[in-house]
Amino acid sequence: MSTEIIKDIICPQCGVSQKYRLYASINARDNPELKQQALEETVFDWQCQRCGYFAAMAYPFLYLDPDVGYAICVTPGGAGPGAEATPQVQDFVKRRVKNLAELKEKIRIFDTGMDDVAVEVVKNALCTIIKNKYGGSRVHAYFSRIGGNEMEFAIFIPGRPDPARHSTRMEVYKQAQEVLRALDFTDPPGFAVIDARLARRLIEEYHQG
Ligand SMILES: [Zn+2]
Repeated sequence: MSTEIIKDIICPQCGVSQKYRLYASINARDNPELKQQALEETVFDWQCQRCGYFAAMAYPFLYLDPDVGYAICVTPGGAGPGAEATPQVQDFVKRRVKNLAELKEKIRIFDTGMDDVAVEVVKNALCTIIKNKYGGSRVHAYFSRIGGNEMEFAIFIPGRPDPARHSTRMEVYKQAQEVLRALDFTDPPGFAVIDARLARRLIEEYHQG
């Protein structure tokens, strides 16, 4: 079950008080419409019913998918202690992300049955290629989907309004899994942050080993 909280907020534009629905937790099985909102990155959206003022809030919540077996703690800005590993999520894969874009990516990865650590290692390789090609240091890649025998990514390059699409062979993913096996990588306890920084550290370890 999803847990919602109703709060009164005052529209910063017209000053009228109204309700805002927050989610302490979203359960993808019970509320597929909320899962859809997560995939559209609209969970935080709020619009004033009087004047149409639009705002995107940010608050921490827990996203659960009991069917696939994962729990993702969304902590905007990375602030706060994050969620506790309650008995309910004990056997779940547990992750912590800092925004809805990262949440969407994790949902896509786990729903495809992939390992997000290996996907981060693939992204690391991909971003290195993109940086060499286009220059710029702050390149971000997000996993989109599997198409045929390829993984598809959306690449955000500074100064470009739209993401570039990029595909890489599944072979690269298998190689990333080999790297993790060689390192004896095991899933960290609690709500782990599996991101580009971890991937960089693992690749360094691999090359040193
Ligand atoms: Zn208003």
